[in-house]
Amino acid sequence: MAKHIFITGGVVSSLGKGLTSAAVGMLLERRGLRVSMQKLDPYINVDPGTMSPFQHGEVYVTDDGAETDLDLGHYERFTQATLRKSSNFTTGKIYSSVIAKERRGDYLGRTVQVIPHITDAIKDAIHAGVVEGVDVAISELGGTVGDIEGLPFLEAVRQFALEQPRGDVMFIHLTLLPFLRASGEMKTKPTQQSVGKLREIGIQPDILICRTEQPMTHEMGQKISLFCNVRPEAVIEERDVDFSIYEVPINLRTAGLDQQIIEFLGLDDAAPEAEMVDWEAMLDEIKTTRDSCEIAVVGKYIELHDAYKSIYEALSHGGIANRCEVHLRKVRAEDVLSQGTDSLEGVDGILVPGGFGERGLEGKISAIKYAREHNIPFFGICLGMQCAVIEYARNGLGLDEAHTLEHSPHSPHPVINLMADQEEVHEKGGTMRLGAYGCALTENSLAARLYGERSISERHRHRFEFNNDYRAAFAASPMNLSGVHLERDLVEIVELPEHPFFIGVQFHPEFKSQPLAPHPIFSGFVHAALAHKRPEQNGNTDRKTERSMA
Ligand code: GLN
Repeated sequence: MAKHIFITGGVVSSLGKGLTSAAVGMLLERRGLRVSMQKLDPYINVDPGTMSPFQHGEVYVTDDGAETDLDLGHYERFTQATLRKSSNFTTGKIYSSVIAKERRGDYLGRTVQVIPHITDAIKDAIHAGVVEGVDVAISELGGTVGDIEGLPFLEAVRQFALEQPRGDVMFIHLTLLPFLRASGEMKTKPTQQSVGKLREIGIQPDILICRTEQPMTHEMGQKISLFCNVRPEAVIEERDVDFSIYEVPINLRTAGLDQQIIEFLGLDDAAPEAEMVDWEAMLDEIKTTRDSCEIAVVGKYIELHDAYKSIYEALSHGGIANRCEVHLRKVRAEDVLSQGTDSLEGVDGILVPGGFGERGLEGKISAIKYAREHNIPFFGICLGMQCAVIEYARNGLGLDEAHTLEHSPHSPHPVINLMADQEEVHEKGGTMRLGAYGCALTENSLAARLYGERSISERHRHRFEFNNDYRAAFAASPMNLSGVHLERDLVEIVELPEHPFFIGVQFHPEFKSQPLAPHPIFSGFVHAALAHKRPEQNGNTDRKTERSMA
């Protein structure tokens, strides 16, 4: 039977609860335990798939095709936990299931209520999130304690704890110790009040993790312990990190977090302390790196870092693989169109991410043309790949007005069209081509060299695809259609062998990159960017290096 950890957040949102939860999972794994990770989100959308990236940040996709909260990206970057549809539940998903049962008559005439019916459904969701054979199931509760919409979840986890054997469930509360510059001190009152709110509901946190800018003094820890009814050694400091978010688990280990959890849950840990040598070596590399390159990310949702979270992380992993720091130049796609390509001058690589909607589309296409014509390494993801196909059709194949059916239903050359099985689809939620699909790579292509294999699997989230009516025209051109999903004959990768590095992929490789296992395309892209920066040192991208580095 798995033990359970519930992680709540207090005082303010954006405390890094997802990152902290991922770090908890990682520390336990590094002590030889198996964990599962789950996020419970109190909003009413059934999943974040229909939400604007400006509202919610990126939509993270799992292998089994769930459109989920971006915190699941942290879980996958830090842990080996298997994530799937039951790893993310929202109020909307819970209510949908309860209402469907009510319509079926499953409640046999009873009045359907928040307690017990919604709370029961939440408890079922928590059980569903536990992967077979894990030692510890970690569930992060979205939102901030005190939010009205979070109440049913807190009530449900309170009940859940009561139903488990004593000592098998623990609560970790992440809170903030604000620093008042004027008086030069950190304040504990918001934490006391937030814990007070939890206790009103019947939840006593067993560990408090305190986000701070400044070191938490011994006295302050004692005071928090006294007022919040948490043992002094279980009041853990989580100070802002200097270099990288990947320092968080190391700092939490130093603060004694995993030891507290192991002791509280009475776990037989295989390792006496979390084994982090490879992780520490990776951090050392980040800290001592001298080299750098600059990558332009040309997108629509540039103002919000979270909108391209996994892409930015995967670029940093590409940097780790190449012992170089990747500086981001965030360029609004619209500006490339209205102000020209000056904003791209001097960059060592151009990445066009996925997206929806027409705004910025022509700017992305201009940026790709610039990359292609100036031999700047280019990497297009999903919509970025589709734009690369449009750009090449227009300017390489002379197919004027080539376009995607998504935005130009009357284009004479719809080189990107709607997938056949999408034609009858009218509902927006959960209806795209989602999740992992296989892809066969052409021998000796850039893709095959980067991956070092001929058969790969990557995650998808799109409705449109390369139009096979144009397959012959492209096949006769220098553009190589180097990756195909064989079962349905869908083009998944395009590349330009004459170019130093030019690749567009229909899938989202960023979801599978980890700091200790950087994704091969991201590693290759950063490698090419470094070569672009210093052609005299690096020469052309050496094929053997590509493989070994990938
Ligand atoms: N809008 C495009 C499609 O649906 C691309 C989607 C994406 O970039 N994720 O096919």
